[in-house]
Amino acid sequence: MTFAPNPAPYSRIVIKLGTSVLTEGTRNFSRPRLVEIVRQCATLHQKGFEIILVSSGAMAAGKEKLQFPTLPPLVPAKQMLSAVGQPWLMALYSEYFDIYGILVGQMLLTRADLQSRKRYLNARHTLHALIQGHVVPIINENDTVTAEEIRVGDNDNLSAMVATLAEADLLVLLTDQPGLFTADPRTNPGAELIPEVERIDERLLAGAGASITGLGTGGMATKLQAAETATRGGATVVIASGSVPDVIPRLAHGESIGTRFQPGSSRPENRKRWLLAGYTRSGWITVDAGAATALARRGSSLLPIGVAAVEGDFDRGDTISLYNPQGREIARGLSNYNAAEVRRLQGCHSSEIETRLGYQYGEEVIHRNDLILL
Ligand code: GLU
Repeated sequence: MTFAPNPAPYSRIVIKLGTSVLTEGTRNFSRPRLVEIVRQCATLHQKGFEIILVSSGAMAAGKEKLQFPTLPPLVPAKQMLSAVGQPWLMALYSEYFDIYGILVGQMLLTRADLQSRKRYLNARHTLHALIQGHVVPIINENDTVTAEEIRVGDNDNLSAMVATLAEADLLVLLTDQPGLFTADPRTNPGAELIPEVERIDERLLAGAGASITGLGTGGMATKLQAAETATRGGATVVIASGSVPDVIPRLAHGESIGTRFQPGSSRPENRKRWLLAGYTRSGWITVDAGAATALARRGSSLLPIGVAAVEGDFDRGDTISLYNPQGREIARGLSNYNAAEVRRLQGCHSSEIETRLGYQYGEEVIHRNDLILL
């Protein structure tokens, strides 16, 4: 097979397919829809675009295969659905891409794979090897083994992590909505489509509210989180409807469909991208005014003395958010201590760490090398 040069603005594209797209809003898997999506991806692939799919739908496929069983609302039951659905889904992708002479490769990831530097690098190498081999990677969360605390939880955020990991130019979040609206279009007839977003702010997040499709896991809120992560990682992000004809090639060629989010001004270097990708939303720290200035102006580390408050829960090694006293997120970084330890160290001088804890991992809560300013 020959690969022609690719003249479009984007060359490496991550496409996230929500369950509602793959089932066309029903409870059954839509093979015609899947055929159509594969055709669009294959057209681009043959023109030299690098395509990565993040596909949901394992659970929906499992339900269909097991003929919609009545199951207890327990994690193992859901994991059983994924275990049945995932290989079936992959078999379909494999068969349909094969029509075009394209091979697919499966990658199942968890948050732990993106948080540990070593595992992150492994995942990145595999992804790059697949792309270089002209294989289309098809990624999903490794639902069958992920307990709540190591899950990403939704494929919107997972696809943003993948886009960051892969250094993608474009992340397309395909869903059953035409894009992001000023309000929920199902309840508010005055709601308007937002074609272009320069900055994700509070107003936008409030508008996205809890709009969920009821089929997949994510809604507009997780799509905005994803857009935030991926644009910071240097990708353009588009939310668009999977039913628009030829939506994927048209977006790849720069056409305006749905809602587009502009990428951050520069692509962060590799290690900082990892910090963005492995980010957890389970805990955060508010720093005092002095620490906020020191972080922003002098590129300092965060010391215990600058910690004003600790919220939620996180482990040593997790990437967490730092907020200034005005409540604005100013940085993300890798915590040297877990949430309980930071609470005990809050406000103390670094020389007291050993006496307060009986051990120490270093004098910083977050070292400057493990910190990315936003
Ligand atoms: N991993 C889930 C599945 O394949 C989908 C998660 C999501 O919809 O965001 O069913």
